[in-house]
Amino acid sequence: MKLSYDLHLHSCLSPCGDAEMTPNNIVNMAALLGLDLIAVSDHNSALNLPAVFKAVSSVDLLVVPAIEACSSEEVHLLCLFETLDGALECSSIFRKALPPIRNKPEFFGEQQILNANDEWIGSEELLLINALSLNIKQVQDAVQSCGGMVIPAHVNKKAYSLLAVLGSIPEEYRFSCIEVNPPDNSLPFAGHRISDSDAHTLEQMQEPSHFIELPERSTKALLDTLCGRI
Ligand SMILES: [Zn+2]
Ligand SMILES: [Zn+2]
Repeated sequence: MKLSYDLHLHSCLSPCGDAEMTPNNIVNMAALLGLDLIAVSDHNSALNLPAVFKAVSSVDLLVVPAIEACSSEEVHLLCLFETLDGALECSSIFRKALPPIRNKPEFFGEQQILNANDEWIGSEELLLINALSLNIKQVQDAVQSCGGMVIPAHVNKKAYSLLAVLGSIPEEYRFSCIEVNPPDNSLPFAGHRISDSDAHTLEQMQEPSHFIELPERSTKALLDTLCGRI
């Protein structure tokens, strides 16, 4: 089946994410736009995903557990997980690898953790946009140990991307998929490529514009396809 997707969205947990990017607003906007599957991928943390998963139960949408990690090389990596528990486990690993620098909300923005009713239940105190002390390989190992896969994010972006930092997509990492925003078929890469909105506001969320062929609408089918297992 052909499904529309947007696997890179930021909630209000990301300091750069708009306060309106609450779990309910994101899933309701995605459903309104007609998307089939989405991922909320906050910087280095999955702490808003429990609320997103509760919020999505009322709409016809598949949510894939995700985190956008920032490796020690300052490369952004979209991490997709088979389960919410796997994403939360990896989120704990990443938190221990964050530098001990507190967020300054007035400067960087709030890092709000909400419940399924979009009510504030806490704030992440460590600044989430910093680079982890884990390099790309160590992020891959951590994500794989939690049942997930790593996709280099926005490889064609001028900052925080594999091409901007390393100048190439090194074979040694064996990436099976890259994210290219906006789509650019001139980039040489033999594996899968996806394109997402990387929306930080509700207005930046897009109508269905990117599609993927899957045997069924499930997280397992998505990961199996993007990993090249099927
Ligand atoms: Zn990014
Ligand atoms: Zn992002």
